[in-house]
Amino acid sequence: MRRIKSKQDRTVETACPLDCPDSCSLSVTIGDGRVTNLDGSHRNPVTDGYICAKVRRFGERVESPLRILHPAMRIGPKGNAAFSRTTWDEAIDLVASRMREARDTWGGESILPFSYGGSNGLVTQDTIDARLFRRLGASRLARTVCAAPTSAAAQALYGTMPSVTYHDYPHAKLIVIWGANPSVSGIHLVPFIQEARKQGAKLVVVDPRVTPLARQADLHVPIAPGSDLAVALALHRHLFETGAADQAFLAAHTRGADRLRERAAEWTFERAASVAGVQPAMIGEFAELYASITPALVRCGWGLERNRNGGSAAAAILALPAVAGKFGVRGGGFAMSNSASWSINRTWIGEDEPATRIVNMNHLGRILTEEVTPPVKVLFVYNCNPVATVPHQNLIIKGLERQDLFTVVFDQVMTDTAAFADVVLPATTFLEAYDLARAYGPISLQMVQPVVDAAGESQSNPEVFGQLLTALGLDDDTGTQGELGTLIQVLDQLPGTIGDDLRNGRSPAPAFGLTPVQFVDVFPRTPDEKVDLLPEALERESRVGLYRYLPDPATARYPLALISPSSDRTISSTLGELPRPEIALVMHPLDSHARGLEEGASVRIFNDLGEVRCTLSIEPTVRPGTVVLPKGLWRSSTINHSTATALAPDALSDIGAGACFNDSRVQVERIVS
Ligand code: SF4
Repeated sequence: MRRIKSKQDRTVETACPLDCPDSCSLSVTIGDGRVTNLDGSHRNPVTDGYICAKVRRFGERVESPLRILHPAMRIGPKGNAAFSRTTWDEAIDLVASRMREARDTWGGESILPFSYGGSNGLVTQDTIDARLFRRLGASRLARTVCAAPTSAAAQALYGTMPSVTYHDYPHAKLIVIWGANPSVSGIHLVPFIQEARKQGAKLVVVDPRVTPLARQADLHVPIAPGSDLAVALALHRHLFETGAADQAFLAAHTRGADRLRERAAEWTFERAASVAGVQPAMIGEFAELYASITPALVRCGWGLERNRNGGSAAAAILALPAVAGKFGVRGGGFAMSNSASWSINRTWIGEDEPATRIVNMNHLGRILTEEVTPPVKVLFVYNCNPVATVPHQNLIIKGLERQDLFTVVFDQVMTDTAAFADVVLPATTFLEAYDLARAYGPISLQMVQPVVDAAGESQSNPEVFGQLLTALGLDDDTGTQGELGTLIQVLDQLPGTIGDDLRNGRSPAPAFGLTPVQFVDVFPRTPDEKVDLLPEALERESRVGLYRYLPDPATARYPLALISPSSDRTISSTLGELPRPEIALVMHPLDSHARGLEEGASVRIFNDLGEVRCTLSIEPTVRPGTVVLPKGLWRSSTINHSTATALAPDALSDIGAGACFNDSRVQVERIVS
């Protein structure tokens, strides 16, 4: 791969493809081949010249002492992160031979590729990698650790209809931020909310924590984790029973309204309040604001899905604008992921997916430790750090310690998962390779280009997966594509003129524009273009039926709900290696008083799955009965090298088979030395 090296300072335009809704355009200054400044550029009018503090430090990852610079093989016990340098040829030969051996002995399904969200770039994932694993007949991975319940709900109700984008928030007169904290993830939404507020919009925030937006809100509804469904159903009951439901809209544009009404009927404000741990009058006020103000916009976040009721909760929240008749006006409707707006079908993979075993990524620990047929013999991890991000950390570690498991980790830095690898392969960062960045809050698609030389011997995903295809004799007469070849192939196969626009430096837009009004510019992508308010598929999938509340899993032994929301430290777990202030468990003063704990105490947070040791921060920024550790921490962040995922059950949400991080129930006590 050719790279540019220059002693002179220069500034290069690129974009951020990391797992964040915003997809900033970036301006990167390079001096002597190094990143000397990384900031926002104005090319993307939504992100408009500023970026988060996380990526502002991305140059530190590029030059991190933890950077993997060469292929290497394990020389010590698994987990010790001791490796000996090898060549790319030797590493590719070894990985290919272990894959061949596993496939020939146990079948292709004994190979498990494991990837998620380390980059959302269209070139970095689901291109040559997918071709390789399909041709091997490998197990398929259900990428469910995030957004699976909300996506399943949105797909079933609306067929992934595009949603309201940031520019239209100022048109809303009521904004509901439900289970999201844009102040740390999706930061560019905040000024649009502020603008709406200046123009008189009311703000409601539904969150167990006092987030920065909750602090400014007209109404903060600090509900218990996992009770979102009860509150949403109480709003539906209110809409139906007070005549605020839009019967004309329901008749013309929906199916299933009567069944939704039946399921909501039992959810009085009192009942929902008893489940949610708030006053009935607060839910009543929320319901009245939503019923009476138009345009009203609900931002459905991802915090509300991470529990046993997550899919039903997302469906009930997404159904609100249909029942209340909030569509058809700019600033009204719902906002969620817009990743499906471009109708990209990944045709470039070039072949059908074989019907091999599907492994839910939330069950990585199980599949590695339980008796399954065939057993997983080769685990190939890329764009992902499951030890830090996937539930049941201790079971995953136990699986990674298996002596008969051959683990490959292809990553940029020595992650918690890479420490257990048999072979590590060095990957380029987004500042060292071509890619395409697709936003999922606003609607945008931008070119990502290398701005510095690839560090050490690091290579991009298409390059490495192409070499593996060749080594395994699985490439065809199209040959392996390499990085640029893959980029060109993806550009060629993007719908309409998108590829040409990107090639020619233009900003592409879907046919309906960048700021669609729901039920004016875009409509449900369901077979009859109607909103399905109680989809049969979801009804069947849920063990108890859609919109049926499953009770809180707290016990007398483990009474506290542990949540692990996004923080200003990491993007999922990316950048978790950077030095930060000490990690602390956040607890409400009532809970610390009940346990005789003082600020700064060393505590253990524990349940039957594990234990995390860290210091305590006592703050009234979280509701009583709920405690908080940040999402995406690396093991080095805590005293005992365990993080919140060690306490997270690997149970699955009601629909979408998503992770239930926020169903962690724990106890906290002082560490007695
Ligand atoms: S992580 Fe998000 S806010 Fe930060 S630079 Fe990337 S797109 Fe922008």
